[in-house]
Amino acid sequence: MAMDLQQRLDLLTTASRFDLACACKYPDEPGRQRGPDGRWIYPAVLPGGRKVMLLKVLQTNACANDCTYCPFNSNRHIPRCSLRPEELAKTFMDLLKADRVSGLFLSSGVQGGPDRTMDRMLQTVEILRRRFGFKGYIHLKVIPGASRAAIEQAVRMATRVSVNIEAPTEQHLARLSSRKRFYQDIIAAMQAISDLRGSLNPRCQQTTQFVVGAAGETDKQIVTATARLYERFRMERVYFSAYQAPDPSPKGIHDLFGQEIYQADTQIAKGVIREHRLYQADFLIRRYGFSRDEIPFDQDGNLSLEQDPKTLWANLHPEFFPVPINKAQRWQLLRVPGIGLKGADRIIAARCQGPFRTIEDLARLGIRLKAARPYIRLD
Ligand code: SF4
Repeated sequence: MAMDLQQRLDLLTTASRFDLACACKYPDEPGRQRGPDGRWIYPAVLPGGRKVMLLKVLQTNACANDCTYCPFNSNRHIPRCSLRPEELAKTFMDLLKADRVSGLFLSSGVQGGPDRTMDRMLQTVEILRRRFGFKGYIHLKVIPGASRAAIEQAVRMATRVSVNIEAPTEQHLARLSSRKRFYQDIIAAMQAISDLRGSLNPRCQQTTQFVVGAAGETDKQIVTATARLYERFRMERVYFSAYQAPDPSPKGIHDLFGQEIYQADTQIAKGVIREHRLYQADFLIRRYGFSRDEIPFDQDGNLSLEQDPKTLWANLHPEFFPVPINKAQRWQLLRVPGIGLKGADRIIAARCQGPFRTIEDLARLGIRLKAARPYIRLD
């Protein structure tokens, strides 16, 4: 039965929730949550920290690919539909005029090959930019295997482009998809984006996303691959999305080799905690000055689900503590559990007025004293 515009929007915006692109949060916090209307619109955090509402939608959920983790893969029998570029652009402008969104996140299943798919997405963006004069935020997914010409247009017009890497190595990706090629389709697209944005649109950002827990990969493999992506392609952000089985089995989630990943009753919680730990490790490397080798993994190469990596590192390095709060440099303060980026800056600013007399003085600076107390001293 033919679906009307409303039904197609319902389907294609619901489908887009699997791509985070903007979140480092638990399920009840912005990023996995819907907007106030409970449909189509998702809260997101833009680079720089601005919170916005995005229309997050697929151009189509029809797809010729067979990615095992994806609810829209070609083997699944689900209702399929598409939005024409004109109707998607017009829908977005109506929502923009009604002040319900300020940006667009556009992805798509692959229909008719990477370039034909990109062509429809690029048409949508072109209508918004050229015909409607929209100058705001557009995040455009690049389809793996897209030509350099298509990537060039995407970089010219979008605020942010991303091609999802999904897995840390060629071997892991091969377990997830028989069609996507790690180097030729994904790494080459990232390289093209990195090359082009400097000359065409220096403000265009590049991000990517891993699906976590579908291919038997370890956290260490993901953290290592993430560090390389930042170094090689100057990625603004790398996102991690916990694998969620399209049809969770009452017997739990198993990977492609029958290995149990999560028990049924705890599968989402554990998957999301793993995702959260990866974000914490990512922050330690990007913002706190930790090297990749300092991130503590267990003997299987995974982050602890019970303890955050910064606290675990502190407990493994008693020789570093207690840190003298009145003398420590910023990088030393940042190693203390309970002291974040703002907290370290506030401590340094407050010390200009005179030394701290008691540990309790730190509480008024927003330091989590309960966490920090065992790792600091006064003199
Ligand atoms: S190409 Fe994208 S939409 Fe298609 S099956 Fe893979 S992840 Fe899903």
